[in-house]
Amino acid sequence: MELAGRTVAIVGLGRSGLAAGRLARSLGARVVGNDVRDLAALAGTADEARALGLELRVGGHEDAVFADADLIILSPGVPTIPAVERAEARGVPVVGEAEFALSRCTGRVVGITGTNGKSTVTTLVGEMVARAGIPTFVGGNLGTPLADAVGTEAGSHGVLVVELSSFQLERAVSLRCHVAVLLNITDDHLDRYDGFAGYAAAKGRIFAAQRPDDVAIVPDGDALCLSLARAGRARIRTYGGALGVVRREGDTLVDSAGHAGLTLAELGIKGLHNADNAAAAVLAARAVGVDDAVLREVLTTFRGLPHRMVLVRTLDGVEYYDDSKATNVGAAVAALDGLRGRAGKVVMILGGVDKGGSYEPLRARLEQTGRAVVCLGAARPLLAAAFDGASVPRVEVESMEDAVVTARRLALPGDVVLLAPACASFDMFTGYAHRGRVFQAAVNALPEAP
Ligand code: ADP
Repeated sequence: MELAGRTVAIVGLGRSGLAAGRLARSLGARVVGNDVRDLAALAGTADEARALGLELRVGGHEDAVFADADLIILSPGVPTIPAVERAEARGVPVVGEAEFALSRCTGRVVGITGTNGKSTVTTLVGEMVARAGIPTFVGGNLGTPLADAVGTEAGSHGVLVVELSSFQLERAVSLRCHVAVLLNITDDHLDRYDGFAGYAAAKGRIFAAQRPDDVAIVPDGDALCLSLARAGRARIRTYGGALGVVRREGDTLVDSAGHAGLTLAELGIKGLHNADNAAAAVLAARAVGVDDAVLREVLTTFRGLPHRMVLVRTLDGVEYYDDSKATNVGAAVAALDGLRGRAGKVVMILGGVDKGGSYEPLRARLEQTGRAVVCLGAARPLLAAAFDGASVPRVEVESMEDAVVTARRLALPGDVVLLAPACASFDMFTGYAHRGRVFQAAVNALPEAP
């Protein structure tokens, strides 16, 4: 749609909403900025929006805000809003910010989604593409808003490596990924979706606008991911499992289509799930022309992102890992599985804001490999119910400091203390990074002798 002289309403004035507003202004549109927060709550954001030339209609979502809109752009994570639905029913087009921004780019898009591992794989692919000397933009759900890519070298003729959340994908119609990666689908955000099927369908939309010469990348042996890819038209490549093009075999990452394989000890990111992430990244980067020498170099040097399986300290023969980013059950299970093969057991710190999934997969594993479960935060009653009668002991604590001191008391030499809470953090912290920092500080504060 030609935007000059049209009215665009932006819903949600976060970072990506503001970036979309700036882009719409630069394309000549009149832009109305809307947010459920009022002026007082928006504070500096309101000034920033005005400086960009946005007209503010905030403090709710009245029908009047959308009355003269020619286009409505939704920020990621904005819930269903009745006034927006009514406008859409009247024929006003409604798009997500990612789709809006990418429709203004001509570079190739590598889109990455999945319940877990998105940021790791996005960063890894971004490093690979950039190291190959291709103009690269890395962003989306991960950080830099996609609107900031428009008009850049990468946006025009390079590669955009884009982390896409299910929120960004659920409305996507024309959002085309030349390379689309779907890593996994496990329970998460069920508080927002009509059950698992709705969540999976949103993720599957990453393949919807792909063309026959595009590439869809999914895990070998994952029937759900594969069926979603098959509903699209792209060529399918698989990784991991028994037959993936790049996969684990014993302690080696095998590459049957090239020379990017290496041993897991050489791989910079740790844990078995990260070997799968590396395999997915190799296929994605190769699909946009990155050669094997660059792939190998990045695989050996990239050490991962903060608060994802970070070894904080070894004390009395016990290793303390910060995987605060494990905000759902699938991620926490992956963290536990990544520790398979060790002699000791795991003291696991769980809890925070429940996401509506089942804790059963965690209970099953912890009954075998758990020394104890330390439960924290708002989800404690749900965890108590989930672990009721379990053969692994459970302790409830009031604070992260308490959790760490308790975990130390319970752990034996050779054990691991693992913070992989399987829950969001907003009951006690500003986010997973804050939670991870508090955990690390508490671990580092443990005295040498108890
Ligand atoms: P996302 O951006 O999807 O949240 P991250 O790369 O930030 O993903 O990783 C989040 C957490 O998910 C990590 O802390 C780790 O415990 C877990 N994780 C990472 N990769 C995988 C994977 N391939 N499968 C399952 N869990 C994973």
